[in-house]
Amino acid sequence: MILIDGKKIAAELRQELKKEVSDLKVKFNKVPGLTVILIGDLAPSQIYVKNKEKSAKEVGLKSDVIKYPDNVEEKVILDKIQELNLDKSVSGILVQLPLPKHIDKQKVIEKIDPFKDVDGFHPVNVGNLSSGYESSVPCTPLGCYLLIKKIESNLNGKKAVIIGRSNLNGKPMTQLLLKENCTVTVTHSRTKDLKAECLKADIIVAAVGIPELVKGDWIKKDTIVIDVGINKTDKGIVGDVAFDEVSKKAKAITPVPGGVGPMTIACLLKNTIDCFKRSQI
Ligand code: NAD
Repeated sequence: MILIDGKKIAAELRQELKKEVSDLKVKFNKVPGLTVILIGDLAPSQIYVKNKEKSAKEVGLKSDVIKYPDNVEEKVILDKIQELNLDKSVSGILVQLPLPKHIDKQKVIEKIDPFKDVDGFHPVNVGNLSSGYESSVPCTPLGCYLLIKKIESNLNGKKAVIIGRSNLNGKPMTQLLLKENCTVTVTHSRTKDLKAECLKADIIVAAVGIPELVKGDWIKKDTIVIDVGINKTDKGIVGDVAFDEVSKKAKAITPVPGGVGPMTIACLLKNTIDCFKRSQI
């Protein structure tokens, strides 16, 4: 069994990105810039944004965080996004979610220039991804995809089962694996027999939010198992996969923590650099 070390793979990716940023600096005499908008003082959001800023600076990106109080008017945010859309020193814009209730999430997402949409949530990017065109791809599924490709470079004809159909994880994951010629089954809360679906899979990606939902007898031997879930329980943080049972049968599996999580921020940096490169064409 291969324990997929997301921490190590993310560190390697960050090293590659650092080199790329320094090459871009030589070529264009400027570096890609990431601007994050943070509204309110939710503790998890503050921590994520701090980590994003730190990682961005480590690879040599220009990084800014613009903070607003919880009661900021929606128009102020939309105007700021418009200003950033026009700012040539900004390659990527990220508005940290969740937003306060009085701010319309979709309006905010759609205001971001699709070419600066490092989260890959803009409908233009969602559409391009599902049409198989070049696009920004949401960071977590992109990270999962890179981990899967580390284990198996040729995914032709593999049967993949995605658990969860969120816009953030399940749906983009589906598109990424379809593009790799997998036969993809998307399962969700109304799926009749999840265990039976999982038993057919060569690859399982679990993005649900239910602690240890996927059990050892739900997988066949030699399945690649990617666990996106982050669930706080009495015994600490666990994923959506019962790691001890499943790891006995899997070909490869991500731990939680230390699997998918570290790839998410590394992919945000990758997306920022890719947005910069597209803007220079
Ligand atoms: P979500 O709540 O938006 O979606 C969950 C999905 O699971 C839904 O599509 C739902 O239909 C499905 N589902 C619910 N119960 C089910 C069941 N019994 N059987 C099958 N499917 C079921 O969640 P999300 O935003 O996609 O996040 C999923 C998990 O991933 C959460 O634990 C979240 O914390 C974690 N997450 C991790 C990262 C990371 O970087 N590792 C990033 C984002 C989210």
